[in-house]
Amino acid sequence: MSKDDKMEKIINLCKNRGFVFPGSEIYGGLANSWDYGPLGVELKNNIKQAWWKRFVQERADMVGIDAALIMNPKVWEASGHLKNFTDPLVECKKCHERFRADQIPPEHAKKCGCDLTEARMFNMMLKTFLGPVEDESAVVYFRPETAQAMFVDFKQVLNSSRKRVPFGIAQVGKAFRNEITPGNYIFRTREFEQMEIEYFIRESDWEKQFDYWLEQMKQWLEFLGIDLQRIHFREIAEGERAHYSRRTIDIDYDFPFGIKELYGLAYRTNFDLNNHQEASGQDMSYTDPVSNDKFIPHVIEPTFGVDRSLLAVLCEHYHEEEAPTAKEGETDVRVVLKLPKELAPYKVAVLPLSKKEELSIPAEKLARDLRKFWSVDYDETQSIGKRYRRQDEIGTPYCVTYDFDSLSDQAVTVRDRDTMKQERVKIEELEQYLREKLIK
Ligand code: ATP
Repeated sequence: MSKDDKMEKIINLCKNRGFVFPGSEIYGGLANSWDYGPLGVELKNNIKQAWWKRFVQERADMVGIDAALIMNPKVWEASGHLKNFTDPLVECKKCHERFRADQIPPEHAKKCGCDLTEARMFNMMLKTFLGPVEDESAVVYFRPETAQAMFVDFKQVLNSSRKRVPFGIAQVGKAFRNEITPGNYIFRTREFEQMEIEYFIRESDWEKQFDYWLEQMKQWLEFLGIDLQRIHFREIAEGERAHYSRRTIDIDYDFPFGIKELYGLAYRTNFDLNNHQEASGQDMSYTDPVSNDKFIPHVIEPTFGVDRSLLAVLCEHYHEEEAPTAKEGETDVRVVLKLPKELAPYKVAVLPLSKKEELSIPAEKLARDLRKFWSVDYDETQSIGKRYRRQDEIGTPYCVTYDFDSLSDQAVTVRDRDTMKQERVKIEELEQYLREKLIK
């Protein structure tokens, strides 16, 4: 399977099975907007919830916020975004299409050659008006990152939570960027989600904390089941780093369309808190309750794209493999998403062997009982072999088949997605059986 084929297959699977749809499709779509369907929203929520649990709920040194998408424009003045959040824009003199200067698609060069205008800096902040009057004073911006709210709310979080440095604030939410060249499916869109941490530290600790967070990010990638062989840690040279950063590592993934940024880790010094202190006139310092020393904390920022996580997870776990069919001695190709169980949209599928009420009534009851604990699919159409394959395609770890023997032996067959092995399990032991399997 070539890399182009793989991407096309993933896109088709996502559309057909309800992971990701082209946005506004009945009106011809809207440039690179995508909607998450019934399975996509489950997968995406599972990623976000696992992240929140790991980085906020399981830690004593982290708290979360959920700030407004639209903030006072002075925030973006102080952070430097209104001035510096720009990308170089070039225009083709022949077809007048516009591109980000470092992202000109090779097909374009073939079609038009390379006669481009000089690059001009294009600001990527997405503008709108707040309130009924559309004049300059009503101009506001959708946040281009979730990070700034964690600086702006720093003192309120500190005072209400009584955390001590080192501690972190986390936020998950939408961000908007007027990208010049969106593309590569959900990789680069104008509306996307981020999971970010601002970890507040003493300046003297920055190297130690930077290494620590890099390790935490690796462990998260392992949790997603991503092979670190396909991850590239790219140290960003001084001239190429954002002006506020003293060290940045981009964490790239080997996507089918090339090695591209998945996450980033930056040491932002105390640039942001300093700027907000200056611009707002409010004190942004921290006073240590033990030593009484007062300082503006420095910050390590691990940043994770939600949509890029989901895409990397799909690329990593999409497999095609020869598998036996129901007919003795025959095989065909099965498509299977070998998702980590915690991420799977459905944990279990309940499949009655026949549509007859004799089986469907107790099978539906079984599905209802299991839904108290997990997301459960119920499917009684087509042959059992085809139904197994449909569940493989969407990554359901366990299929539970209720057959005619179940009526007498009060047991069901549980099939494992990865090994395709089947086991007979007593219905009264099923919940415990699945619980143990799903934890692993
Ligand atoms: P790129 O170089 O790809 O434009 P960036 O370096 O500008 O990305 P950051 O500002 O570091 O990205 O944003 C943090 C994270 O947010 C990225 O690592 C990525 O996962 C995600 N992200 C950024 N821009 C987009 C986008 N347009 N669409 C989807 N995810 C994005």
